[in-house]
Amino acid sequence: METDAVKLSVVVPCYNEEAVLDGLVEALKDHLPAITDDFEVILVDDGSRDDTLAILRRTAVSDPRFRYLALSRNFGKESAMLAGLSQTRGEAVVIMDADLQHPPQLIAEMLTFLDKGYDQVVARRNRTGDALFRTLVSRAYYLVINRLIDVRLEDGVGDFRVLSRTAVRAVLALGECNRFSKGLFSWIGFNTTTVDYDNVAREAGESKWRLRDLVDYGIDSVVSFNSKPLRLAIHVGALAAFVAFLYAAWVVTDALVQGNAVPGYVTTICAVVGFGGLQMILLGVTGEYLGRIYVESKGRPHFLLKESSEGAATPVTVPL
Ligand code: UDP
Ligand code: MG
Repeated sequence: METDAVKLSVVVPCYNEEAVLDGLVEALKDHLPAITDDFEVILVDDGSRDDTLAILRRTAVSDPRFRYLALSRNFGKESAMLAGLSQTRGEAVVIMDADLQHPPQLIAEMLTFLDKGYDQVVARRNRTGDALFRTLVSRAYYLVINRLIDVRLEDGVGDFRVLSRTAVRAVLALGECNRFSKGLFSWIGFNTTTVDYDNVAREAGESKWRLRDLVDYGIDSVVSFNSKPLRLAIHVGALAAFVAFLYAAWVVTDALVQGNAVPGYVTTICAVVGFGGLQMILLGVTGEYLGRIYVESKGRPHFLLKESSEGAATPVTVPL
């Protein structure tokens, strides 16, 4: 155990969250002392362009239990969480969003499970109030994704969770650059349990996710965990080739036996366009993996720090 350990660390990644931060800090000050006095909150500014960092500085000055890290630019939520996790000293660590969509009053209940011997307690929200379309897309996503990857992902489970020190060490030991936390948390295993809560709307500000991000996230989740899509590409290619062969055989037989002329340009165009598209997709799948190897092989740090509540002179990169 680290020397200056505390009982509880709370990690909050913050990107352009000026509208909600004061509310979050108040909520944490309300709920955490009831659990333990020995806590720290690590707020990570993920290169915000609004007043988030100024608020973090002010918060840390007025209450030393609130620490902060500022990344040198926007590295994305995954990196921000990782930066925060790498600095935690708690025996138990909570990860939560800044926008109060992760109710702080749930933390106490989640922590009770650590005492019962669990290493991960995952909060799962229901989808009340979500748009029907979004709900359906999510359902379909989880149905497909769980067939494709080896770890198990669950609908409604996000990054709101409590980890034991053991689980934190395990997550930090995974050095990959392309981080897909939902999967990594599932991958490390350990005794895991779930606590349900009601969906809450964002307190203020707006979600940083655009449709494109969600599509990218979906692709990330598939290719982060195994090479099944490559295998799938072979199957799809083989199936397409087989169908084409059958069709060609039928056309030839038809022409030879029945003497039918072959008015073929429509089928030709369909075949060319269809196979062109298929090849592009399969090439894309291969490229995804190649790209990942490229990024990983550079071995760059996951994030750079520009400032923290411990002073500006902290090392810019943090060894994980
Ligand atoms: N976030 C971040 N970096 C980013 C995007 C988001 O640190 O590049 C943080 C954000 O400040 C919030 C959390 O990740 O604390 C979840 O973001 P958001 O509420 O936008 O996502 P949603 O709840 O819609 O999934
Ligand atoms: Mg949110």
